[in-house]
Amino acid sequence: MPPTGTAISSTPGQVAIHWYRHGLRIHDNPSLHAAISGSAELYPVFIFDGDVAGTNTAGFNRMRFLLECLQDLDESFKKVGGRLFIFHGKPKAVFTRLFEEWGVTKLTFEQDPEPIWKARDNEIKELCHEKGVTCIECISHTLWDPKQIIEENGGCPPLTYEIFRQVTSVLGPPKMPLAFPDFSKIKIPVQHNHAELYGIPSLQDLDVKPDCQEQLERVHEWVGGETKGRELLGVRIKLERKVYPGAATPHSIYGQLLWREYFYTMSVDNEKYDIMEGNPICLNIPWSVNPKYLEQWTKGETGYPWIDAIMKQLLLEGWIHHVCRHAVACFLTRGDLWINWEEGLKVFSKYLLDADWSVNAGNWMWVSSSAFEEVLQCPRCYCPVMYGRKMDPKGEYIRRYLPVLKDMPLRYLFEPWKAPRDMQEKASCIVGKDYPEPMVDHKKASAYCKKMMEEVKNILKRMDPEISPHCAPSNTDEVSHYTWIPNYHTGKEKACMMEVDHDCN
Ligand SMILES: Cc1cc2nc3c(=O)[nH]c(=O)nc-3n(C[C@H](O)[C@H](O)[C@H](O)COP(=O)(O)OP(=O)(O)OC[C@H]3O[C@@H](n4cnc5c(N)ncnc54)[C@H](O)[C@@H]3O)c2cc1C
Repeated sequence: MPPTGTAISSTPGQVAIHWYRHGLRIHDNPSLHAAISGSAELYPVFIFDGDVAGTNTAGFNRMRFLLECLQDLDESFKKVGGRLFIFHGKPKAVFTRLFEEWGVTKLTFEQDPEPIWKARDNEIKELCHEKGVTCIECISHTLWDPKQIIEENGGCPPLTYEIFRQVTSVLGPPKMPLAFPDFSKIKIPVQHNHAELYGIPSLQDLDVKPDCQEQLERVHEWVGGETKGRELLGVRIKLERKVYPGAATPHSIYGQLLWREYFYTMSVDNEKYDIMEGNPICLNIPWSVNPKYLEQWTKGETGYPWIDAIMKQLLLEGWIHHVCRHAVACFLTRGDLWINWEEGLKVFSKYLLDADWSVNAGNWMWVSSSAFEEVLQCPRCYCPVMYGRKMDPKGEYIRRYLPVLKDMPLRYLFEPWKAPRDMQEKASCIVGKDYPEPMVDHKKASAYCKKMMEEVKNILKRMDPEISPHCAPSNTDEVSHYTWIPNYHTGKEKACMMEVDHDCN
């Protein structure tokens, strides 16, 4: 049994609904605490409305992960004598019925700070007001209230990460996590036919189909749910304590979470944050439209093994490392294919288990040089060969996700088209037959992208000679931290800076 918080009194007749959307957990959940506090009955509810938690864009892996999170939550509620209640439909219609049927006096939920959820939540707040139901919204999806950060910054989002850090340091440290709530005084009314009435649907019920057979075989066990998440967090914290002994907080996780917080804050009042046109922080860049290229990139058929291995891992497992996200995002946009970042964002939203509306868009804008950097500095693009060699020096990653190349000698693994024919035959991988030829010549493609960026920059300069920097990194350390390339700005980094010049052909 988990440790519990202080006992909470209950008032007969007080019936609360806690509405789950993103924070699918029991621990450290202030709005769940608020629901329990002073109530006699509690109904934990999740509503499939077609949009919730990104379900409108999610593919098979992401939906499976979501259902596992709900399953885990249901199991946890079972342990305290309750269940999770699932509904389908528009929240307003569902709550109008439930307020009446269950005699609800209080509704609580976690703040969803992204602007795309505002209309939905405002509608429910109004409904509560109309029906005399107390509505409580708590902040726990982010470390601070992003609106407070903006207020503290004089009413506008902080333009650089450094300013963001200054503002948050004025606000003080984030709130400490809450203890596991005390369920001893509250009843969660469960009927004998609960599963039939309020059960968790299956993927088949929701008509979600896998994109490929391997997704069903489940090559990597990323299991959804608070239980597994807490277990993995424990492992990570232990590891961090080893790497940074004596540090007061898990140093690296905290630093990285701040990036997440930054992107959330930047999106707060910007409904167009995930598109280019009309997005005030995003530069309009004349990207080309090329469905064939986009398809090759999406399927991991570019002919560049480092890029293809990453896209295969994304498709099969739903998670790829930050460095890998950089590599494929740069390749799709300003590095090689000159395709709009919105297209990449859609693919990530479908496949990434951790896809977030704002974090995803913020990162795509930065990598494509559309925002969050000094205007179109785009100092270097990653070479799909050199970058891969640096990150995967033994080629293990490529062999794992592209078994067709498993017998290709390391020397040619990152550019198999250069392997002599007899070597390709020996490795049972003929380029052009068993594995694609490179879809573009990186040297030419990256030179074209660079030229296009220069042109855009010149146009912008003509329009505004000052080119006011919209959002920019504070310094090179920040870029280095963001790109995960150490010493980005020093001579040592020559190996990583040759990307554009490297002759892949
Ligand atoms: C093009 C692109 C798209 C991305 N899309 C998403 C997305 O949809 N959702 C998402 O959570 N992250 C996204 N990221 C950021 C980052 O890659 C992931 O957060 C990180 O790789 C997740 O791995 P992890 O859970 O092992 O986190 P770790 O690397 O161990 O970091 C711990 C936590 O810090 C946060 N974090 C770390 N780096 C970043 C970052 N650069 N920006 C924001 N948060 C960060 C995440 O919450 C993460 O879970 C994207 C990055 C790029 C380049």
